Amino acid sequence: MTDKDKSSDTALRVDAVIVGAGFAGLYALHQLRRRGFSARVFEAGRGVGGVWYWNRYPGARCDVESMQYSYSFSDELQEEWRWTERFAPQSEILSYLNHVADRFDLRRDIAFETRVTSVHYDEDTRLWNVRTDLGESISAQFCIMATGSLSAARVPDLPGIETFAGDTYHTGDWPHSDVDFAGRRVGIIGTGSSAIQAIPLVAKTAAHLTVFQRTPNFVIPARNQALDAVAERFWKDDYPAHRSRAREIGTFYEFSDKAAFDVDEEERAQEYARRWAEGGVNFVHAFKDIYLDKAANDTAADFVRARIRDAVRDPAVAEALSPRDHPLGTKRICVGSDYYETFNRPNVTLVSLRNEPIEAITPAGVQTSAREYAIDTLILATGYDAMTGALLRMDIRGRDGQTLREKWSAGPRNYLGLMTSGFPNLFIITGPGSPSVLVNMVIAIEQHVDWIVACIDALRDRGMSTIDASPDAEDAWVGHVNAEAHLTLFPQANSWYLGANIPGKARVFMPYVGGIGRYRKICDEVAANDYKGFRLSLALS
Ligand code: NAP
Repeated sequence: MTDKDKSSDTALRVDAVIVGAGFAGLYALHQLRRRGFSARVFEAGRGVGGVWYWNRYPGARCDVESMQYSYSFSDELQEEWRWTERFAPQSEILSYLNHVADRFDLRRDIAFETRVTSVHYDEDTRLWNVRTDLGESISAQFCIMATGSLSAARVPDLPGIETFAGDTYHTGDWPHSDVDFAGRRVGIIGTGSSAIQAIPLVAKTAAHLTVFQRTPNFVIPARNQALDAVAERFWKDDYPAHRSRAREIGTFYEFSDKAAFDVDEEERAQEYARRWAEGGVNFVHAFKDIYLDKAANDTAADFVRARIRDAVRDPAVAEALSPRDHPLGTKRICVGSDYYETFNRPNVTLVSLRNEPIEAITPAGVQTSAREYAIDTLILATGYDAMTGALLRMDIRGRDGQTLREKWSAGPRNYLGLMTSGFPNLFIITGPGSPSVLVNMVIAIEQHVDWIVACIDALRDRGMSTIDASPDAEDAWVGHVNAEAHLTLFPQANSWYLGANIPGKARVFMPYVGGIGRYRKICDEVAANDYKGFRLSLALS
């Protein structure tokens, strides 16, 4: 192991390579350095921030409340930082992450504008050899993938897309300069969380906005507002207690201990109405069985569909916007501002692709089975190759040259979501098999990084060189993740959680639905139990 002073070298050997400088990579770097390990971070962007660096589309903001969507590891940091809105906009989250990078002097170990292309394990040296698109080559005992769950933007295979004569933007890879929609006929493909935030703002300035919708989503109003001093003090006055509870539950929502049919129809409606008026994801926690029981879920879905009819003047448009093919919440619930109301604007048209599928993108616009829509600016809000995409874009090879792509060809396999057998000392932060995208990502990241860094520290203390998941433990974990998912309604939707948005991707429910508190306990018990399910080997002499 090298000492802390060496961490700023551009030496060709470090203790750990970290891929990505978003929330996960920054925290991993900070914690490794604090324990005296040297680390080098590679980041494709020109700055820190990860998903918050790339996602600059109009309206981009987080739908976890800002007082909760932040690191908890530093009392000073959480006390000094001031959020200005209930739900922080992208620009403010990015400023926060830049502040963190400066405050903890992280930049000196980050190589920006550098994409990792290959990560190969060498059995003889027990080191990972990492190469970048700039030709840099570095070896490391540990490799930490902080590549994000929703970072590999997906451009759909629409015939003729390369022939489009206007401007094309993907919400997940937005330009750093302002995009002007004034006087332009804008088309947007997709109605997921990103589109739902962008649509109301684009509609305000575009000459015309055509929304191409394949699957309508449930959209809960955000009720975003300036962060009031009382709410800020509520958090700051007792951050340790709030954070410790959040570590058990993920996000500080108001969870109910009642099932939907424990109360009568009137009480149910009142509960939904109260949460709808408050805004945000709290709505889906109105009853404890919304994710478990279809009949309970239907009561929440019916409530939202009624609100869509209230908001949208044209009944045919309201019906087209009403989700009917999946239970509420089983595709990621969306949180928006004035989303449904936007469809009352005379300059907005909804095209339901279920009725008229896209046949091609032409130089002049979008050709559906019914007609051609003339478009000057095309926005692809078409999502991500979620959870595995960013990992599999790299050429990752473990023992015996096995590629991760081969190993995961029938879906991701790993133990605790942290390590995949045959790839020793390679850790994945918030990947498949962990709660990640189903909970507050910052909490999930801190839990993973803390566990990983403690594990690396334990190996050093014991004179061990490698840790690898055992195939049996991995099989058992994959089975557990799958079994837990099938106790819920989640598998009933064609969602990115299942890889259903990517043609040809194995259909496996990827995140762990068991909750962050339960998951944390399992991970801690494994560590306390001499890393049960992992194989540790002694250092080479
Ligand atoms: P998404 O949820 O995957 O939505 C992609 C949209 O594009 C869907 O409506 C999808 O339709 C459509 N689409 C994809 N390919 C298409 C094709 N070939 N033809 C027509 N339509 C197509 O992606 P996203 O909106 O970027 O959001 C991804 C995730 O990022 C969210 O679920 C959330 O976890 C996170 N996110 C969070 C926030 C927030 O905090 N507020 C904001 C943005 C994103 P189908 O549904 O039919 O596949």
